[in-house]
Amino acid sequence: MIGPAVGPRRVLVTGGAGLIGSHLIDALLDRGETVFCLDTYETGDPGNLSHHADNPRLTLLERDVTDPPHLDVDQIYNLACPASPPQYQRDPIRTLRTSVLGAMAMLDLAHRTHARILQASTSEVYGDPFVHPQPESYNGNVNPIGPRACYDEGKRCAETLFFDYRRVHGVSIKVARIFNTYGPRMQSNDGRVVTNFIIQALRGTPLTIYGDGLQTRSLCYVEDTVDGLIRLMESPDDVTGPVNIGNPTELTMLELAEQIIGLTGSSSPVLHMPLPADDPRQRRPDISLARDLMGWCPNVALQDGLRATILYLRQTPVLKLAGCSPVLA
Ligand code: UDP
Repeated sequence: MIGPAVGPRRVLVTGGAGLIGSHLIDALLDRGETVFCLDTYETGDPGNLSHHADNPRLTLLERDVTDPPHLDVDQIYNLACPASPPQYQRDPIRTLRTSVLGAMAMLDLAHRTHARILQASTSEVYGDPFVHPQPESYNGNVNPIGPRACYDEGKRCAETLFFDYRRVHGVSIKVARIFNTYGPRMQSNDGRVVTNFIIQALRGTPLTIYGDGLQTRSLCYVEDTVDGLIRLMESPDDVTGPVNIGNPTELTMLELAEQIIGLTGSSSPVLHMPLPADDPRQRRPDISLARDLMGWCPNVALQDGLRATILYLRQTPVLKLAGCSPVLA
């Protein structure tokens, strides 16, 4: 983790009760900052921040990102948006509104209060990429009318807004393209591959592999992602990004299933199911830019991160009720 902050600042984190947001708030409070967490709690959970209940430097605001609070802040991390495909596709128009109008509302707030603002963009801007691994200079291959477009195009439009607010209004912006992130505090029912496989392995039910399972992802542990976001926020003003934040260790979904079966000591089989539309075939970040500009690279090995996530998910009510108790290998 990077060193202590220069002094206490007022920091707004939208989507602060989610996976990345709550770990980010832990780190910001550790650095002595005063934090405002804005969240609707639809995919985030205030329980993720309950260990700060007595901390006067944290304020929880239950509201939508498109309805900004009247606050004077020094920094804004704009993370608000469902990130799991089943969740962001459930109400696609709402997802677009959150991505686009939410970004605009936060940029207006940053402009008004002279705050620096960081956008949680995504590897989804690369779509189903023809260039591998993906550098920031690659403009991507996104289907603008498919079921993933509400998220992909919403996040692409948000990037456009960020750079136009910089060009037109001189707002101090940072854009991070975050690749798949996992860790404790993932929702057990978010439908993502890491949670699905872990819950299935712990229950002893089949691990659902979509398609042939040869599609790849690169999974970054949440603490590494948070370290990258803070480094980017604290970087010199001319470092705007976009900067990839992700772990370059790439693996197929079949390999991920094998690892999770091994770590949980489960005897679950795998079950192949249809591949969702527009599912990207491969995904791996080129992180040279993050390394050069911010001295950042991920430190947590996949096995260690998965162990911590399995330990966390074993405690979730959904498994406790089902009486599942496989031990960690
Ligand atoms: N996937 C899978 N089984 C599942 C859930 C997901 O094989 O139970 C696959 C999915 O088709 C995709 C990859 O795992 O190829 C990652 O999916 P996830 O939803 O976690 O994130 P994405 O990177 O697609 O946004």
